[in-house]
Amino acid sequence: MNHLNIYKDLFDNRDEAIIIFNKKFEIIYHNQNLNKIVSNSNKAVFTNLKDIFSEKNIEKIKEKSSLFKQYKSNKYSVIYDNKFLSLKSTFINTNKEQELDFTIISDRSKKQRDLKLKDCVYKIAESSHFVNDLDQLYPLIHKILEEVIYTENFYIATADWDKNIINFPYFIDQYDGRPKSKTIGNGLTEYVLKTGESILVNPDQCERFIKNEKINVQGQKSVDWLGVPLKNNSNETIGAVVVQSYDKKIRFTEEDQKILTFASDQIAMAITRKLDSLEIKKKAYYDQLTGLTNRVLFNDRLNQALHNANREQQNVAVMFVDLDNFKYVNDSMGHTSGDSLLKIIASRLKKCLRKTDTVSRWGGDEFTIILSRIKSMQDISILSNRILNEEFRNVTIDGQDLRITASIGISIYPQDGEDIETLIKNADAAMYKAKEKGKNQFQFFKPKMNKEITERMSNENNLYKAIKNEEFLLLFQPQMDLKTGKIIGFESLVRWNTPDKGILPPYKFIPIAEETNLIIPLGKWIIEQACIQNKKWHDEGFKLTCAVNISAKQFMQSDLLEIIQATLEKTNLNPEYLELELTETILMDDAEKTINVLNKIKEMGVKISIDDFGTGYSSLSYLKKFPIDTLKIDQSFISSIGRDGKEKNVAIANIVIDLGHKLGMKVIAEGVETEQQIKLLKNYACDKIQGYIISEPVNEIEFNLLLDKYIKL
Ligand code: C2E
Ligand code: MG
Ligand code: MG
Repeated sequence: MNHLNIYKDLFDNRDEAIIIFNKKFEIIYHNQNLNKIVSNSNKAVFTNLKDIFSEKNIEKIKEKSSLFKQYKSNKYSVIYDNKFLSLKSTFINTNKEQELDFTIISDRSKKQRDLKLKDCVYKIAESSHFVNDLDQLYPLIHKILEEVIYTENFYIATADWDKNIINFPYFIDQYDGRPKSKTIGNGLTEYVLKTGESILVNPDQCERFIKNEKINVQGQKSVDWLGVPLKNNSNETIGAVVVQSYDKKIRFTEEDQKILTFASDQIAMAITRKLDSLEIKKKAYYDQLTGLTNRVLFNDRLNQALHNANREQQNVAVMFVDLDNFKYVNDSMGHTSGDSLLKIIASRLKKCLRKTDTVSRWGGDEFTIILSRIKSMQDISILSNRILNEEFRNVTIDGQDLRITASIGISIYPQDGEDIETLIKNADAAMYKAKEKGKNQFQFFKPKMNKEITERMSNENNLYKAIKNEEFLLLFQPQMDLKTGKIIGFESLVRWNTPDKGILPPYKFIPIAEETNLIIPLGKWIIEQACIQNKKWHDEGFKLTCAVNISAKQFMQSDLLEIIQATLEKTNLNPEYLELELTETILMDDAEKTINVLNKIKEMGVKISIDDFGTGYSSLSYLKKFPIDTLKIDQSFISSIGRDGKEKNVAIANIVIDLGHKLGMKVIAEGVETEQQIKLLKNYACDKIQGYIISEPVNEIEFNLLLDKYIKL
């Protein structure tokens, strides 16, 4: 093998090990690097592969080596003493007696682990999008980390700095059970939380470290303890990940510390992202201004109350409280005073109720109350009188004493309705009666009250008459492109101008229209009117997109697609300028069916947007599959941004925008009321806005003026 000696220098200078062996595994030549790779052997020269490799490895070599298979060359890998070795074997056939294997061995351990680490970081980021809550996220993180570090004993701690509490939301340990939440003390985990530094405590320096830092060791003492802080975007420590070993043979190294530190960024990001999205949910249940529960949670509570009442054979009362003179306060004293008044009213209402009752802000100046386990109608009368004559008296705002009056409507379960919708609708009808009778009073629901509204609608002829008489009208609210500042579209919003009750907002009649199926002809009329109007603007040279709200019943209707198709043909509007708004709840109700319908809508060229995003429940995996063009962030998030300007709220808006963009959608913010909100939305690359800052929903004539202002100028 002299010719090999010639190349000795060359081979020895390589990073890899080189071995030449024959079929008996006798080593004919190896370079010096082999000694580095098989470092635990003291031998300087190896004569047989069997001296180096385990039986299992030899088996593998026999199976894969090009020598035995007579391949030209072959690549494979073996695990040797925790190292990941990659072998490239080449068949050499110098002459018949000398069939040899020329193998280059490289230690890919680091490369392999780097790859795994990259993969692990990616998987953590991914999983935070696809699990619903933190309880599902933690075990996933644990499983993912298993690939790169020893995690037999693994826990995640989080810090609540406001309350000075440490929590252990995830804790897997061979010896100890999961600790309860407690005041932040002097444990090792707390050391990581407080200093924001990672530490690897091993037996050599353990005693000294514990003594110097005055650490209280808790639980079973481990051999190695490795803790790494979790930091959020602002570099605040929000928690720690910890791995421990109780086995002298399993030790953590600085390399492990690096790995865990590297992964910790991603873990922290995943946790904050999840916390923020939980915050979104929380925001979806509470009114930002008054802190009262909102409609969503109110409905939920009422549902629960009805359930209990049914079981216990009790009554439940639903009260609808509407301020009589709120518009006056708002208009004459300004919105800030209006807001202050709403806050005061909220706290007064809360004050006169029991803890088990619920008061919520239904919208604007309307409040709804659930009284459970009521004993007599008289109690409700007493409470109503107290609200009107005591609680709403003596309200002072900006030094001005105001005389606040309200109209209250009351419905009782089960006599006035057996489900939430009916009870609310009937309490609302009773409230209207109270207003009609001269305000500042309360009314119990009587069946004839509701008849008025439903009767007018319920007969289909009447509805057509109402449409024909132009009792329904569409208002248009502009949508603006944030980059250009131009109006690029509008949302059409329906109103009912009743002969006796004045203009009713959609929530007063859309639910009834849904219930009586009259939403089908009404919805058809709305789509048609919106398209006609939009075509008119197109003909005038404004290429606007019109958004039309589609209600659940309409979406379920089998001929929705035909109606849209026919309307587009009839009005000659290019389909790409029509956008259907659907809420999360509608989309998620029967997700598989939804995909089908949406795809058909898309085939027609019509756009789809998801309305009130963040107030319902969305499965992200479905969201990914739906062909949605636009995501509309619900106004509750936008209004909260302006109000307290807290960083967290900013983050939430940011995350939703980000999510929309990641899913390939445009994002529109609705309910934008201030310059401050615009600035922020611009910062986060939100595409479009809609809200009072540009204009309230207006009629055609006023909209033309807006077009002049925002497009022609
Ligand atoms: P939506 O689709 O989320 O419509 C947005 C609502 O927010 C509208 O209320 C709009 O007037 C209001 N809004 C717009 N900008 C601002 C703002 O800056 N601040 C505040 N506080 N509010 C703002 P509207 O017109 O009362 O509609 C309420 C809901 O009724 C709509 O919510 C939609 O779900 C439903 N709706 C309205 N028109 C139709 C329709 O033609 N068909 C169906 N099926 N539903 C409709
Ligand atoms: Mg809408
Ligand atoms: Mg909306």
